[in-house]
Amino acid sequence: MRVYIPVEIARRVRQAAHNRCGDCLSPQHLVMARLQFEHLLPRVKGGLTSEDNLWLSCPLCNAHKGDQVSARDPETGETVTLFNPRTQDWFEHFRWSEDGLRIVGLTPTGRATVAALHLSDDPDAIQVRSYWVLAGWHPPRE
Ligand SMILES: [Zn+2]
Repeated sequence: MRVYIPVEIARRVRQAAHNRCGDCLSPQHLVMARLQFEHLLPRVKGGLTSEDNLWLSCPLCNAHKGDQVSARDPETGETVTLFNPRTQDWFEHFRWSEDGLRIVGLTPTGRATVAALHLSDDPDAIQVRSYWVLAGWHPPRE
């Protein structure tokens, strides 16, 4: 469902997110769609449309995430909270595979998020990234 986000809040969230998806790091200038404002705590779970509850997400990650806030770590079977791009550091929880095509989870949160958001097995994302790698645009190192 679309919600209205005040222009000034939208601008500040875009800036804080470096204008890229918080989960797969796809930058706006390489995505053929407007990045979306994601509610970190989904609205159906009481999350507000406030600056501290918003981040940027690409349409793929946002669709995979849906209203999930936690998921199973495939290594331990434990349910853990998903990665929060506003409060957590991407490179502490994930790394790129050697070929740059896949995201590898390094922590329980990282592994659960990779599984829940299909960060390493979405065929469309992998194909697009393969061209970004050829062009020298990917993977991002920070
Ligand atoms: Zn994404």
